[in-house]
This record gives sequence, structure tokens and C-alpha cells, in this order.
Amino acid sequence: MYIKLFTLAYHDVVSAEDPDNSGFAVTGAAVYKLSPLRFREHLHAVKNRVEKPPAIIDTISLDEASDAFWLLTFDDGGVGAYLHTADILEQFGWRGHFFVTTDFIDQPGFLNKWQIMQLRKRGHVIGSHSCSHPERMTALDGDLLFDEWRNSINVLSEMLDEHVTTASLPGGYYSRQVAQAAARAGITVLFTSEPVSTPCHVDGCTVIGRYAVNRYTQPSTAAGLAMGLPALCRRQWLWWNLKKIPKKLGDARYAQLCKILRRG
Ligand SMILES: [Zn+2]
Repeated sequence: MYIKLFTLAYHDVVSAEDPDNSGFAVTGAAVYKLSPLRFREHLHAVKNRVEKPPAIIDTISLDEASDAFWLLTFDDGGVGAYLHTADILEQFGWRGHFFVTTDFIDQPGFLNKWQIMQLRKRGHVIGSHSCSHPERMTALDGDLLFDEWRNSINVLSEMLDEHVTTASLPGGYYSRQVAQAAARAGITVLFTSEPVSTPCHVDGCTVIGRYAVNRYTQPSTAAGLAMGLPALCRRQWLWWNLKKIPKKLGDARYAQLCKILRRG
């Protein structure tokens, strides 16, 4: 038996009136921003069904066999992390992992240095989400890829006066080379968007999958994913891998395949 990690990938919690005042405001980003009310509903649902509090990655032994944990992660480094997310988590007595896109620190809508330091002081984990948030990390050549990891890790390590060794992958495109570059830059834990619960190891870096959560995710689904309900985890895995197919099949054939699967 291997360790199982059921990691929920959130992005931001934002005021319902003005979702664009935190994090990226590009098309498609709003779906990943939850209102404080919705986020609380998610956490209540999880708390009612899962005994353990969410784990913090540096406090668990990743070599431990036959154990399962659930974790909370938040991508991008939007200011909502400081304004809403951390406060709500702490009302539950919980802590999370916040992944910061370092080129955007101090920019409008993003965390500033002081807020990042405060989050760390309050017991949350701060990690890298790259420097510039490339759409496809897999498309970068070796040096650029390495620089995205190394420079972002350096900025955060200097700011927090400790070795930052955790990161999450922006854009969702994963390859072994991305993890190898992360390992070379000193990252020991890399969260991806692959919906899997068994971590793997690449050059000494532990690569951990995550289950995506958005504003339309039902609280009961968030709870089910944290519990690792096989049917829910499998469904995410199927959809995620289905999305990878168009590249190989071509758009028309892909649409046809989706139609067939929906009928089924
Ligand atoms: Zn991101």
C-alpha cells in the first residue's frame, strides 16, 4: 500500500460583488473564484464528513505506507488569500498551502510581501506558482523552465527567510521534464493538476496530483473528493484525460467522442 493524498485545488475566495479584484482577471478565471459564503459551505461539508483536519505537507511523512490524508491548496497568489481564505480556514482551525506567482507580488489584486509574510507566520505554507504563470510550462525550453522555478523559489525564500521547497504547476500542463526542472531548482514537493491520489517521485521531487474545485462544485462533491470517494475521483480523472485527447484526435472527432460519452 502507498500513501494516498486527496488534495483539493482551489484558487481564490473573492467578494461576490467584485470577483475581478483578486487574482488573474483573464477569461475563464472567474469560475475558479468562490464567494466567502460558498467556500464556508465547502468547508462545513468537509468537516461534517471527514474526521481529520487537512494535512500540511511538511508535517507528514511521504514514505508512510497505508495512510491517507487530505490537503487544501490555493493557486495564483490573489489578494483574496489574505482578505478571505486564510481567515475562513482559521475559523475552522485549519491551515492551507498558498502558491504565489512571484512576478505579480505587490501588483493590484495580488498579495503583497507583508501579506505573504503574515500568512506564513499564521502557519500556512507558502510555495511557488512560477514567476510569470506561463500557460504551458511544458512548452518552455530547458533554461526558461528552470528559471521559472528557481527565480520564484529564490524570491520567496529570501522574503520568508527560509528555504521554500514547495510549488504548484501553473496552467495544468505537466511533463516529467517540468518535474525534473523543479527538482533541480530545489523543489521537493510539486503539486500538479493531474487528478490522482498516489504521489510519484521524479529526481527526488515528490509529485502530487490534485482534484480541481470551482464555484460550481457542490459542497458535497468537495467533501467526497477530500474523502477520496472512488467514483468522484475517477470521474475527474476521466474528464481530465478526455480533455487531453483533442490534440491527438482532432477537434471534430473529439466532439463526436464527447457526444457518444454523454449519451452513455
Ligand atoms: Zn494558476
